[in-house]
Amino acid sequence: MPRPIEALIHQPALAHNIRRARACAPDAQVFAIVKANAYGHGIENSFEALRSADGFALLDLDEAQRLRNLGWRGPILLLEGCFETRDLELCSRLKLWHAVHHEQQIDWLAMHKTHEPHRVFLKLNSGMNRLGFTPSAFRAAWTRLNALPQVDEISLMTHFSDADGPRGIARQLAVFQEATADLPGERSLSNSAAVLRHAADASVRADWVRAGIMSYGGAPDYPEHDIAHWDLKPTMTLRSKVLAVQHLHAGDSVGYGSTFIADRDMRIGTVACGYADGYPRHAGHGTPALVGGQRTTTVGRVSMDMLAVDLTGLPQEGVGSEVTLWGQGPHGGVLPIDEVARAAGTIGYELMCAVTRRVPVHVE
Ligand code: PLP
Repeated sequence: MPRPIEALIHQPALAHNIRRARACAPDAQVFAIVKANAYGHGIENSFEALRSADGFALLDLDEAQRLRNLGWRGPILLLEGCFETRDLELCSRLKLWHAVHHEQQIDWLAMHKTHEPHRVFLKLNSGMNRLGFTPSAFRAAWTRLNALPQVDEISLMTHFSDADGPRGIARQLAVFQEATADLPGERSLSNSAAVLRHAADASVRADWVRAGIMSYGGAPDYPEHDIAHWDLKPTMTLRSKVLAVQHLHAGDSVGYGSTFIADRDMRIGTVACGYADGYPRHAGHGTPALVGGQRTTTVGRVSMDMLAVDLTGLPQEGVGSEVTLWGQGPHGGVLPIDEVARAAGTIGYELMCAVTRRVPVHVE
């Protein structure tokens, strides 16, 4: 018997979430963001379910190659563009669109011998201060690219820093509109938070939206809104089983450091899941979990291979009971990854990407 832990990737949920992106931005085209191995889901595990998107966007050339190997002939955008001059060779061969966010990338293009001209997404730094040309340098970059025979289409993009929060997007949107006024080309601005919260505005939807976390059943603005509010479905379930049951008396402790001391008699289930599986060690005592589909919480510290859950109120559960650490539980129950992430002081994005290789992955 293998250790009873697995990650399930739910293809119907992925397909549903991409439909939601399309419904929120009906006149735009949708990039499904599949960087970081499809947010930890596996590109190969997610591709069929996401292929109703109009394009895929990612960072790594090897992931782009994997998409082509799966038979995807449509658009693929490299969100950070080329990392060195020879990447352009592969861009040509795989027909990749690529972001251009600094001068050197234009130099490389200017020196590149290509039979087929490239489509590039010129990136504006509208205020995130991560990647992109400043508003004052943007037009000159566009003019340079426009003069190159190696480039046949220039699209315009930026990335919002606060689409999920109270600062919103107004300031960055205004910067983008001013910097790109009168420039031709398709535009792409919106990540998931902008798609869900701001896409009523046609200039925010623009021509291409970039749906990342919403495709994977995460609410970008949790806890203000959860996935039920946005009608998104969990696409990854991490589940395991109870290996052992401990009966505690008041005063007994659980786990390393004895960080939890029982104040009454309790039944505790020891679960085959720990931080070596990707479960966050910082998920403190009281993090939600489902046992047999019913809600309970973790108890004490997470160790490398195990954690503990409270079974006191669940007398029918014991050794062998199914434990849902996040995702879709039995009997239609759902434990959004955002809830677990919050208890660990992080975001669902990080948990999805952190599931480790020793966890077997099954697709359903
Ligand atoms: N666009 C760019 C340029 C990104 O870097 C990312 C992710 O960080 C996304 C879109 C998708 O963001 P989200 O997962 O919040 O939708």
